[in-house]
Amino acid sequence: MSGNLFTQLAAVATRSAENVCLLLPDGSEISFAALYEQAGRFAGALKTLGVAPGDRVVVQVDKSPANLALYLGTLQSGAVYVPLNSAYTLEEVAYFLGDAEPRVFVGAQRSDDLEARFTDVHFHTLDAAGGGSLASLAADVAPSDDVVARAGSDLAAIVYTSGTTGRSKGAMLSHDNLASNAASLIDAWGWQADDVLLHALPIFHVHGLFIAMHCALTQGTPMIFLPKFEVREVLRWLPRATVLMGVPTFYTRLLAEADFTAQAAAHMRLFISGSAPLTPQTFDAFEARTGQRILERYGMSETIINSTNPLIGERVAGTVGFPLPGVEMRVTGDDGAELSRGEIGMLEVRGPNVFSGYWRMPEKTAEEIREDGYFITGDLGTQDADGRISIVGRGKDLVISGGYNVYPKEVEGVLDALDGIDESAVIGVPHADFGEAVVAVVVPSGEDVSLEALRVALDDRLARFKQPKAVINLKELPRNTMGKVQKNVLRDTYVALFQR
Ligand code: AMP
Repeated sequence: MSGNLFTQLAAVATRSAENVCLLLPDGSEISFAALYEQAGRFAGALKTLGVAPGDRVVVQVDKSPANLALYLGTLQSGAVYVPLNSAYTLEEVAYFLGDAEPRVFVGAQRSDDLEARFTDVHFHTLDAAGGGSLASLAADVAPSDDVVARAGSDLAAIVYTSGTTGRSKGAMLSHDNLASNAASLIDAWGWQADDVLLHALPIFHVHGLFIAMHCALTQGTPMIFLPKFEVREVLRWLPRATVLMGVPTFYTRLLAEADFTAQAAAHMRLFISGSAPLTPQTFDAFEARTGQRILERYGMSETIINSTNPLIGERVAGTVGFPLPGVEMRVTGDDGAELSRGEIGMLEVRGPNVFSGYWRMPEKTAEEIREDGYFITGDLGTQDADGRISIVGRGKDLVISGGYNVYPKEVEGVLDALDGIDESAVIGVPHADFGEAVVAVVVPSGEDVSLEALRVALDDRLARFKQPKAVINLKELPRNTMGKVQKNVLRDTYVALFQR
């Protein structure tokens, strides 16, 4: 049997043909049969454009049912799906086109500039309403029933990592990576035949595209398909849903709504969080409000999901749970040797979820995937005696001040728990004396927080070397679309704080 993930998905679609696949904001519905017919049309359209197995199809469009059908049609045609964040600028897109060398680029609108620069690429458009030149082409072809055979190890997608520094790297994910991870998640999260997923994530990122959608698509269950997270809209649809997958900001925004009550959440089976750290404060506030404990899990573009808190059993705030079955994780020191349980080091992961390398970057791949198959995640963490994983920060976030290692997450945890601080981000900036100085960027709940007040509050909570040497008050922290705090932006902004 072909290793093409589409074969597996299409079998489900055939079994569930008349079931609702997508529930849309205007109340209309799209069946599995209708979605896969549209996918077949896109597969036919790509074929007329000369797309061959392994060719890249780069897509930068707004989230829509047509966008989902294009993803499926790309898989069906044996091509490699390359989603791009819709916020990328023309120059950024130009980099991706140069790097991925696609046969086809599908954008939200035409760009004469890009078309002049990439003459080998077929340029097409697809809009959120399902119109555009690719949709017209697809409407003129008969839906294709052919599924191009692929080996499980063949590429299904290239996902460019958000990469805070340097060139963005394309993580190469195979059909087997996607299929095995979907199967593990369905098991781990106990997916049920009557589950309804509230889908408010973007679908240019692994979270919304693979983690969330594959659970529903491989089980033939419906998704409430919202173009983006808009809290009133999410509250309106919540009564129809059983599962919500979100980034931590989804949960803080829900908690800010007075009518998000225990009763409003009572019918929900599962709230899942990932892509950025969920603070214990949010976890606790959510439980206090709804009686439900958010299930936090840990993943990344290169490996989809690595670990999850348990469905049944203790979900511990501030931890990301246990490696999925078949996935191995370890914590290593600077020399690459495995550390003892409880020690902080680099998190590494090996298993059927781990990508095959970075697109056309063999040196980067060799640097980050060890010979024994472990991928060096770049996240610092610990594993306790039972095997439970906690993340303490990104490797590059580590601040070394006066020779001491300071883990920003530890300091942020203490700051976030103080009265008068809503949230915080801790960064290191150059300092003549200490090498780096710890700087607290805080969002105060009322008055600005002074360094003196912080010192008094922290003195018995944190060792001196961990205490901030400056505090910056902001109205909000800069975040990307996946809810991650953009520490690189903060570091760039405050780089000269201690320079005269
Ligand atoms: P991306 O490749 O954009 O999905 O980013 C992956 C990174 O997000 C990981 O390497 C982690 O640094 C971070 N991340 C994902 N899930 C979590 C989580 N539950 N807690 C803390 N950080 C997370």
